[in-house]
Amino acid sequence: MSKRLVQVALPSPLYRLFDYFWPSAQPIVRGARVLVPFGQRRLVGIVLQELTESDVPYARLRNVAKVLDSVPVLPEEILSALCWASRYYHHPLGDVLSSALPTLLRKGRPALLQEREQWRLLPEVAIAASEHDQHRATVRGPVQTALLARLANANGETVDASELAAISTRWRASIKPLLDRQLVSCEHSLALPSNVASDTGPQLLEEQQQAVDAIVASLRSFQPHLLHGVTGSGKTEVYLRCIEAARQQGMQVLVLVPEISLTPQLMQRFTQRLNGCLVSLHSGLNDSERLQNWLLAANGYADIVIGTRSAVLVPMPRLGLVLIDEEHDGSLKQQDGFRYHARDFALLRARNRQCPVVLGSATPSFESLHNVTRKRYQYLPLNRRAGEAMPPELALLDIRRRPLTEGISDRLMDAIRTHLDNDGQVLVFINRRGFAPTLLCNDCGAAADCRRCDAHMTVHARSNRLRCHHCGAERPLPVTCEQCSSENLDRIGHGTERIAAALTAEFPDIAIARIDRDSTRRKGALEKQLALAVSGEARLLVGTQMLAKGHHFPKLTLVGILDADRGLFGTDFRSLEHMGQLTIQVAGRAGREQRRGTVLIQTRNPDNPMLQTLVEEGYDAFARIALADRQLAELPPFAYVALVRAEASDAESSITFLRQVAELLQQPDTETLHVLGPAPAPMERVAGRYRAQLLLQADKRSTLNNSLSWLTVNIGDLSGVRRTRWSIDVDPVDLY
Ligand code: ADP
Ligand code: ZN
Ligand code: ZN
Repeated sequence: MSKRLVQVALPSPLYRLFDYFWPSAQPIVRGARVLVPFGQRRLVGIVLQELTESDVPYARLRNVAKVLDSVPVLPEEILSALCWASRYYHHPLGDVLSSALPTLLRKGRPALLQEREQWRLLPEVAIAASEHDQHRATVRGPVQTALLARLANANGETVDASELAAISTRWRASIKPLLDRQLVSCEHSLALPSNVASDTGPQLLEEQQQAVDAIVASLRSFQPHLLHGVTGSGKTEVYLRCIEAARQQGMQVLVLVPEISLTPQLMQRFTQRLNGCLVSLHSGLNDSERLQNWLLAANGYADIVIGTRSAVLVPMPRLGLVLIDEEHDGSLKQQDGFRYHARDFALLRARNRQCPVVLGSATPSFESLHNVTRKRYQYLPLNRRAGEAMPPELALLDIRRRPLTEGISDRLMDAIRTHLDNDGQVLVFINRRGFAPTLLCNDCGAAADCRRCDAHMTVHARSNRLRCHHCGAERPLPVTCEQCSSENLDRIGHGTERIAAALTAEFPDIAIARIDRDSTRRKGALEKQLALAVSGEARLLVGTQMLAKGHHFPKLTLVGILDADRGLFGTDFRSLEHMGQLTIQVAGRAGREQRRGTVLIQTRNPDNPMLQTLVEEGYDAFARIALADRQLAELPPFAYVALVRAEASDAESSITFLRQVAELLQQPDTETLHVLGPAPAPMERVAGRYRAQLLLQADKRSTLNNSLSWLTVNIGDLSGVRRTRWSIDVDPVDLY
């Protein structure tokens, strides 16, 4: 008799699938989980299909140990998209599927929604209880008495199990006999979160209305839209109307936002304005909350799912609209393991589902602008700020040969004073946390370096420590040079801590809020600092890019940007794009209500044409010029690139291995694939590992794709593979 065979995807770095015998009489369900033996371990895998035969000798095939689901946890819609992504990103399918599951499902937990448990005193008993006699003899002990009293108190209504649990930790043992004697009943039901809007929102401006109309008109068809709205133009308002329209048509809506924890204001606005079952998916949830919300989405109960990057991988059977806020944001790209881009994955799903995608940003990615030019995306501009707000005024401040106080020029300091004197609020932006990026010895010239990275340690003055911002290593802040013991140490450069200290010295009576990853580490600290900023209680704000994201500070009148030059000379081809986006995003925090905002940008390169274009003509003109340069250099979005990265415990191994990879890639399709490198990574050593990379560039997607397919099939045979850890990054967002 022939046994049935099944093909399973398992979380493993191997580019292959695994065959097992199917011992059960149950049907074989594609997308369901199974527990299988794998070496000495057991792994949770996903069933792909029934097989008629296997290449593996039958004697070596093993049995599926347990079938975990009778219906797919990954239904066809999401499963086929994930299969596509595995081929596109050249990442093993088993690992891709596993990363789409919440942790508890990955561990084999049943895919069951938590239900609400409610208890009720049965009516006959209630009458008897009021007469206070008959069942007296059957009730034993104080816990049972208290439980019955609580249930009787509810007058025939149900009481939540959590309330009974509050009476005694032994409540279950006590209530069991009552249930057995049919004095009480227990009901299980699904507790669907249900949000009711408390607010209706303003009348839309004409441009907003046009955008909403265009998006709503495209429901039920695949149509990407680029909602390009200057900061404060009311993009969120557009999202809210479209979400409501789609929900009313019975569709599920997926909303991707950069980092929910950083923008509590945004979440609050969604709950104030939306109706229906609203769930969130982000890193702030514990495993069971995450599982519950995932299942609410996957079973079609959730109307609106708001989440960060990985929410794009959640099954949604009624999906009818996808919104991506801040579509230019780097956090949409996963930077390790399965390195997908949530925007691109969302577009794929929308195409499969035939539904629209809205990409919203004040500073769209160059990819998206290019797709508008190619007429792939519909362009929806919002050029006016909502309400009475005017666009902020940007100006460059030449700081060459100017006196600087801790990196702040005299002219910026004067402007800060004037704004504070006129009851304004000021934000000083510097994209570096800590006190100073370098501790330098004046006698021997040595800098305090990280012992595991090619990087200086950052001075953190408040905590009296040196920290490496690349590997997290830290040690006490030395008082003498670690090389020559000299006491003549200098703290070079500036971080948020130092700027905040300098401003406190200059304006001792003004409250300061510092917002960066250090000052907001404790739970609730960010909310507290943001509240000070929003209320205007803190009139001086100092922060990193955490301050750039979507916040609305109604009283802010001046923004000072201290180190715009850094982005001009980045090593990465996207540095300039990121500098432009960050500058405009930070600038956009200013003047969002009645008073017009001013933005002063300190630079030692006031003649730089890109900086001038950005300041004088704005982001669109800046992007056009930068895109033309990309085209000349044959860089994305005009070419397709991938990085092969390798790391090893010595510098030699990763380079040697990548040389073998480069050789391997000479074989197929060579004339159109450009292989650059191998070269050490811009920061070669991080956390004690030496990193190198190989850049692949092609003018056709298919060339790149075919080369990578060839590579993944053959890479395991290279002799260098055992000494290195390697990965493939398709469409990398940065080259580190
Ligand atoms: P964005 O997301 O584009 O930065 P928001 O949606 O946060 O802009 O809107 C900026 C501010 O303008 C918010 O306070 C919002 O309530 C307000 N706003 C948006 N649309 C309108 C409108 N049509 N009329 C009046 N105020 C509006
Ligand atoms: Zn020294
Ligand atoms: Zn380090």
